[in-house]
Amino acid sequence: MDPFLITISSMAAAGLLFIFFLRIKKKPRVTTDPFEPMPGFYRKLLSEQVPFYQLLNETKKTEFEKRIQQFLSQTKITGVNTVVGDLDKVLIAASAIIPIFNFPGWEYIHLHEVLLYPDSFNHEFEQQGDGRDVLGMVGSGALNHVMILSQYQLRQAFINKTGKENTAIHEFVHLVDKTDGDIDGIPAFILEKKYIQPWLQLMQHEIRLIDENKSDIDPYGATNEAEFFAVVSEYFFERPELLKEKHPELYELLEKIFRKPSEA
Ligand SMILES: [Zn+2]
Repeated sequence: MDPFLITISSMAAAGLLFIFFLRIKKKPRVTTDPFEPMPGFYRKLLSEQVPFYQLLNETKKTEFEKRIQQFLSQTKITGVNTVVGDLDKVLIAASAIIPIFNFPGWEYIHLHEVLLYPDSFNHEFEQQGDGRDVLGMVGSGALNHVMILSQYQLRQAFINKTGKENTAIHEFVHLVDKTDGDIDGIPAFILEKKYIQPWLQLMQHEIRLIDENKSDIDPYGATNEAEFFAVVSEYFFERPELLKEKHPELYELLEKIFRKPSEA
């Protein structure tokens, strides 16, 4: 073969190889499958720290783990003057999934980031809301896709096994409430229409009892219907048996809202 042709063809071959490698290099990297097996230590944290998870059967536990992984793959968690640990990630994700666990496809599509503060917030954020908001808040306006939580409160809620409070669940319930456009205590997106009026009346009745000092529900719940819904939801998920005993009507309607399958 003509040496010139050889040069040309080897150059062409080299070019082809180069393109081939370029192509290979361009191939997207294997993306993380959100449903890859849960790291053992995450499962250990759930087993030790999250009573809701402890009470699930094996199939439901696996489902809960998948939902947690999916949440964590879609939501950024950023520490502000604090370091976000694995425990924080697991507790935030668990608090997110607990209220929506019985809604299989539910994702918090409007939530992009959770900011974790060491404890209560600075004045800038305090001014945006009422008293309780210093412990946690769902952003609005420029912070529309952001939730802020206190690391201390987040952990404390899971350490205290007899409390009726859980700030992180409270904030996620506000997001559930917000699905229909308004944070007003009426989760119209998930509550059947026929229950809306009874729910509204029951909320107003219970708020009156709190105001008259005749209730064991956190007085913060009397702020307005939105706070009432978030506060009694904390109670519902933290101390279900106690709520059922003390407030059967409330318990029953919350069961309908969160689609808790009644125990046979
Ligand atoms: Zn609130």
